[in-house]
Amino acid sequence: MLWQKTLAQPLSFSGIGLHSGRSVNVTIAPAGANHGLRFVRADLPGKPEILAHYTRVVNTTRATTLGEGGFTLSTVEHLLAALRGLGVDNARIKVEGPELPIMDGSAAPFSGLLTAAGLRQLPWPRAYILIRKPVEFKQGDQWMRVSPGKPSITYTIDFTHPLIRRQRYSVSLGTESFCSEIAPARTFGFLKEVQHLQNQGLALGGSLDNAVVLDDNGVLNPGGLRFPEECVRHKILDAVGDLALLGLPLLGRLEVGRGSHELHCTFLQLLMRQETAWRVWVPTPQARQRQSAWLQTPLWGGAPA
Ligand SMILES: [Zn+2]
Repeated sequence: MLWQKTLAQPLSFSGIGLHSGRSVNVTIAPAGANHGLRFVRADLPGKPEILAHYTRVVNTTRATTLGEGGFTLSTVEHLLAALRGLGVDNARIKVEGPELPIMDGSAAPFSGLLTAAGLRQLPWPRAYILIRKPVEFKQGDQWMRVSPGKPSITYTIDFTHPLIRRQRYSVSLGTESFCSEIAPARTFGFLKEVQHLQNQGLALGGSLDNAVVLDDNGVLNPGGLRFPEECVRHKILDAVGDLALLGLPLLGRLEVGRGSHELHCTFLQLLMRQETAWRVWVPTPQARQRQSAWLQTPLWGGAPA
């Protein structure tokens, strides 16, 4: 809780990109305090870098896409969820392609790799965004609210599909609960949608190996669901990943209704603009002495807009 963390050693993996259908190599290397989570497009000349920050979000259709200086990187949310879920503050993530591998559609492969690599504490205090006042945002039938309290996420979804309908799930945020309750939940889609996307040349890597696919009656995956409410748990996973774009862990109670990447990212911008609703907080007095020095660091990626 008190000190920033990074990986104990580098780790590498590869997997299929959901949209391109092509294999992508990824290496995650340890990084020093206040470096933040940064992606590197290792396949491009000059290996451009991008900070995982809400000010760098350029697209939120179906996945969260970051962009800077004319290049983009898609589907960052599941890996970011694993990094934040396990408490990794600093890492350099080199990706040899335009999107992160989809793996099995969940964050469990990532949290497994990170756990196996091990984490290392850094000699700098971790700062948090402490919520002081409730902030709420509504957009049609979607809504999102944050209020002071112990860190937790409560998510509600509502689909007409007979297997989903209304699902609600609540989790207090911690490494153990993230790894056991949230990380294994896979992304989900509807067969009609998948066919439509593939006709447009999208989701070419999509299969029953990396998503829960539903037809009009039920689940097509031979193994069925991992949890009865796997869909809403996956929405929490997406929220944890998008929330990582704050740059600092959030100390507050988050509630979301019928959310999407677009709602999550719009809400982060709105929250950061309401500067009286939160403050940057460091838990111990000894650590607080270093807070002013910390605020000079580039972890924010610039002051909130
Ligand atoms: Zn997702």
